[in-house]
Amino acid sequence: MFNRLFSVLTRDIGIDLGTANTIVYVKGKGIVINEPSVVAVNLRTKRIVAIGNEAKRMVGRTPAHIVAKRPLVDGVISDFETTEEMLRYFISRVHLHALPIMPKPQVVIGIPSGVTEVEKKAVEDAAVAAGARRAYLIEEPMAAAIGARLPVQDPGGSMVVDIGGGTTEVAVISLGGIVISKSLRTAGDELNENIVSYARERFNLHIGIRMAEDIKIAIGSAYPLTEKLEAAMRGRDLITGLPREVIVDDAHIREALAKSVKLLVEHVKAAIEETPPELISDIMHRGILLAGGGALLRGIDILIHEQTRIPTYVADDPITCVARGTGIVLEDIESLRDVLVPSQFETRPR
Ligand code: ADP
Ligand code: MG
Repeated sequence: MFNRLFSVLTRDIGIDLGTANTIVYVKGKGIVINEPSVVAVNLRTKRIVAIGNEAKRMVGRTPAHIVAKRPLVDGVISDFETTEEMLRYFISRVHLHALPIMPKPQVVIGIPSGVTEVEKKAVEDAAVAAGARRAYLIEEPMAAAIGARLPVQDPGGSMVVDIGGGTTEVAVISLGGIVISKSLRTAGDELNENIVSYARERFNLHIGIRMAEDIKIAIGSAYPLTEKLEAAMRGRDLITGLPREVIVDDAHIREALAKSVKLLVEHVKAAIEETPPELISDIMHRGILLAGGGALLRGIDILIHEQTRIPTYVADDPITCVARGTGIVLEDIESLRDVLVPSQFETRPR
């Protein structure tokens, strides 16, 4: 009875701590926050000026002493203090209306696979410092698979390719564990940079990274499209120094992205080569699941299918897949305990 009341009162939280976006799931409510993992810091006062959406709007627009940081940019926690502040901010946003007597939430956090023990401990510490009663960690590919309702605890193998901002993670999962995981630093951010370079080399046009990302989302693709798409690319002419607009189409952008897309596909192939044959046969049967924002690049599923000959499909709402997975874990921590990362220390319940 007391337990029931306790669980109604606490708002347990699932967090996808992504390199590009942080997504927060609240038990019983679903996804409540989806904001960029960006923190703006004033270098003079060392103070944080903004976090999330507001901080991202400042990127490239701030005076020199205000810098926007992405604390997780390469899929590792490059900046522990900023990560802690960001976690604290997002947890407090959903825990804001809690009365002081309310029990603290339990938090399940998705972390990139392959982070070090020190980093795991750092995330756990940060969550507890940010007000969590207990922090559980789960590797992101595992959370993505759970979010897509793959049978992760079965003996059969499943393959997940999570294309985020900073990293692409390929993982093979079986019996509640990650059998193989490979991380590559070619992902959404690199695709944006490809478009910036392409604009410079091909059109003598200097464009910003935000413009590049908009173009990628509007007309980007990994495989020829059936219908031509066009977009206006605006920047500064490198010769005249004046603003200029160029109309580009999907073929231009495919060319711009080709090298990185190829790397990404090679990475998936390399993971397949390392996978034990029994699991490969399961994967042939179940297909490859694509998650993360990069899975929305048009035709990436077709290209991976063509190159690997394994059926490939994009998760429903791939950007929130990991967060929804942490939510499913929250609902049933006991029976999913074996899919979690073993705790670096037991946080005392208070
Ligand atoms: P992370 O888990 O690292 O935070 P996400 O899964 O949130 O990353 O994905 C972010 C990446 O997805 C960004 O690079 C973004 O540009 C890219 N992205 C989002 N929507 C699309 C789209 N429609 N087409 C291509 N890329 C997209
Ligand atoms: Mg992610």
